[in-house]
Amino acid sequence: MRTPLVAANWKMNGSREFAEQFFAAFDMSGVGCQVVVCPPFPYLPLVADKVGSGVSVGAQNLSQEASGAYTGEVSAAMLLDWGVDYAIVGHSERRSLYGESSELVAQKFVAAQSAGLIPILCVGETLAERESGRTLEVIAAQLQAVTDVAEGDIWAHAVIAYEPVWAIGTGKTATPEQAQEVHRFIRERLGEAGAPVRILYGGSVKAGNAEALFAQADIDGALVGGASLDAEEFARICRAA
Ligand code: 13P
Repeated sequence: MRTPLVAANWKMNGSREFAEQFFAAFDMSGVGCQVVVCPPFPYLPLVADKVGSGVSVGAQNLSQEASGAYTGEVSAAMLLDWGVDYAIVGHSERRSLYGESSELVAQKFVAAQSAGLIPILCVGETLAERESGRTLEVIAAQLQAVTDVAEGDIWAHAVIAYEPVWAIGTGKTATPEQAQEVHRFIRERLGEAGAPVRILYGGSVKAGNAEALFAQADIDGALVGGASLDAEEFARICRAA
């Protein structure tokens, strides 16, 4: 019922040459899931040109504002203008390094969705939060911040990514069971609207662990950082979905 989705988050990596080489090497054969590539802003048009090859384009961030005197910011309408379909909001690096609060993330979610982009809302706990038994409470609060401000059937056009902060870029993946527990919790929190929502796992996903993660009932794909910079490995992850 839910079409799996695997998204590449290139973070602040790559170049024009890298992007060209990535798509020259990225082989979609045997890939049955939806694929989204989220490059840094300057490479969005280049990736958008590859949409014909079965890939959708996502931004890694956007402004909560529509337009105006916001130096350095990029609006949802500008992203749409370049053929972008998705926008990651609330990535833990934005939350921790750039001070994005759950309230700001919720505003970005609304800005993306009301313009017609599909937000990929990232949620996840830190190691300290997990060790103090607060994982589900933290996730619930991050979801609640969005439902407090977004109106209507918001989950019909949104994707959620569960990314435990302690698993990002560390080589430590949540076990499939640990991830499944949180994914199920998220789906239950969404109530009836939760059944069709794609909930992705992110945090040290590799070709070698993707299959076991995707075998879990509530894991509908992945948001992949480091391993998405290798076209062959990323394709293997996509094939596992
Ligand atoms: P890694 O796959 O490098 O752990 O990064 C995960 C992530 O943050 C994707 O958004």
